[in-house]
Amino acid sequence: MEPIIELRGLRKHYGSFVAVDGLDLTVQPGDVYGFLGPNGAGKSTTIRMMLSLIRPTAGSISLFGKPLTTHRSEILQRVGAIVERPDFYNYLSARKNLELLGRLSHADVSEKNIMRVLDIVGLEARAGSKVKTFSHGMKQRLGIAQALLHDPDLIVLDEPTTGLDPHGMVDVRNIIVSLARDHQKTILLSSHILPEVELTATRMVIINRGKAIVEGSVQDLLNSGRLKVTVETPEVQRAEQLLRESDFAPYVQSTGEGAIILSLLRGDVHLVTKFLIDHSVHVEGVIPVRSLEEYFINITQEAA
Ligand code: ADP
Repeated sequence: MEPIIELRGLRKHYGSFVAVDGLDLTVQPGDVYGFLGPNGAGKSTTIRMMLSLIRPTAGSISLFGKPLTTHRSEILQRVGAIVERPDFYNYLSARKNLELLGRLSHADVSEKNIMRVLDIVGLEARAGSKVKTFSHGMKQRLGIAQALLHDPDLIVLDEPTTGLDPHGMVDVRNIIVSLARDHQKTILLSSHILPEVELTATRMVIINRGKAIVEGSVQDLLNSGRLKVTVETPEVQRAEQLLRESDFAPYVQSTGEGAIILSLLRGDVHLVTKFLIDHSVHVEGVIPVRSLEEYFINITQEAA
């Protein structure tokens, strides 16, 4: 299968400052590709080069198997993007906004198509409402609807949940997952928020200071190394005693009110759970502790 995105040796210099430092990246059809890095890592700069908004200093960008330099408009017709906070006419309805903005980009602005994209982002019931009545999260969803009007194959979302409340974040993440799963879109999702990538992406790259630090399937990256697990139980003392007398003793890290923290190999999580349950301990929850976060912090520190 031909990659949807292929970046090779991509660089962007601002004077002597190197914002993107020889980036290689391959995104395959159907990927929800997490483009993860701390603020200032070079994510937006990379995305702007991919959308032909700024010019690379060096390196190459191919989308859908074609070089961006020679097939710009053909490529961009197949890409939907939100890179800025979307801007709408507040006193017009969602539907009217999509019609006007869609017309500017020569998209299909038929009622059917507008309702199709509003349905994807869960705003069909609010099609006739003025945008000024929308929450920030709803405006962000309307922005995604706008990016979908021309039915792109690739959707590029630059920090799409920034500034949203938790509800708004969940809505946007669900839309991202559904675009890939139900609508067969390929998605590039830039984020500085780990759980966002952990919850939505299939593959990811972590970038720092314009360089790729690690790349792979999110599952593999999550599975590497030990996992911290919080076991929640009202019987902490008894559970701790049982664990300390068992083969799991070396892995008990600490106990607190209502919870024990263990550092386990991933495959052992269910063994510990079973062990406790077999000893009639009331286990209320077994929760992995932000594994990727530690990974992310370690890795960006190593690079610093
Ligand atoms: P991210 O999206 O990962 O937060 P950016 O791509 O926005 O990072 O920025 C990467 C680095 O490039 C930052 O240090 C930023 O200050 C710098 N930068 C971005 N745009 C410009 C510009 N037009 N001129 C100079 N420096 C810039």
